[in-house]
Amino acid sequence: MPSFVEQTEPEAVFSSLADKKRVAILRALWQADEELSFSELHDAVDIEDSGQFNYHLGKLVGQFVQKSQAGYSLTEPGNQINGAIDGGSYTADGSMAPIQIEPPCPTCGGQRTLEYEADRVRVECDSCDARAAFGVPPAAFADREREEIPAVASRYLRAELSRLENGFCPYCDGRIERHVGPPEPDEPLQGVDEQFPVIRYECRQCGAEPTSGLTIGLFSHPAVVAFYHDHGIDIRDRPVWEFPVFGSDAEQIDSEDPFRASATFRVDGDELTITVDEQFEIVDIEPER
Ligand SMILES: [Zn+2]
Ligand SMILES: [Zn+2]
Repeated sequence: MPSFVEQTEPEAVFSSLADKKRVAILRALWQADEELSFSELHDAVDIEDSGQFNYHLGKLVGQFVQKSQAGYSLTEPGNQINGAIDGGSYTADGSMAPIQIEPPCPTCGGQRTLEYEADRVRVECDSCDARAAFGVPPAAFADREREEIPAVASRYLRAELSRLENGFCPYCDGRIERHVGPPEPDEPLQGVDEQFPVIRYECRQCGAEPTSGLTIGLFSHPAVVAFYHDHGIDIRDRPVWEFPVFGSDAEQIDSEDPFRASATFRVDGDELTITVDEQFEIVDIEPER
């Protein structure tokens, strides 16, 4: 089994970035489409003294910059640092005025509002406790009209869920394991219905534990995709806000022992019910497809 070995102290890695000149070197390599020779790279940054340039470059080589016969280029962590700078998560403050969401709350029929503050989207209902919160980097909303924001947030949430479904942690890329169960007493989901199912995505690497509702977690299941397709609907085009994010009469815990939970999808009077166990394995699809 391949294992993950920490070879460098995190403080050493991040402190090697704590210098304007070094960030300028990383940005120059990011903007170049090819490897740069020592002198090309030197010309691309505003550091006159070549001894000083060499010193700062040396601090980056290995972790963020790699050197080959042809010259200097970014390592994968070097690309990621540049992506994080352009994404604005560390440097911009992502906030905007609250926006009303069109489809009424699937849990209670109330009005919902989307807020974006400190790089986090929160969708809250004015009459029940059903809510969703997830991180979105400012770049995801760049160049978007205000009315597009709920749809963009919906697509970003789907991308995050798809990453989780494929087994990768959104924070550290570590391995994700899934469990289904009732909400924990300390989870901010109370007051909806204590018996609704929650999917818990546990990261073995960093210990993060994102959660989602059962309906949302089943979005990409082939039976669900096919059910909507049969009704002329591409489920990828539907905003997640049409579906219960947590708790509604469309999802329930059916039994504790053995644990069974189910979610029902409804279109034009037709229904599709999917039942899962606590490992989120499908145990039944009704009607059979
Ligand atoms: Zn509600
Ligand atoms: Zn993780």
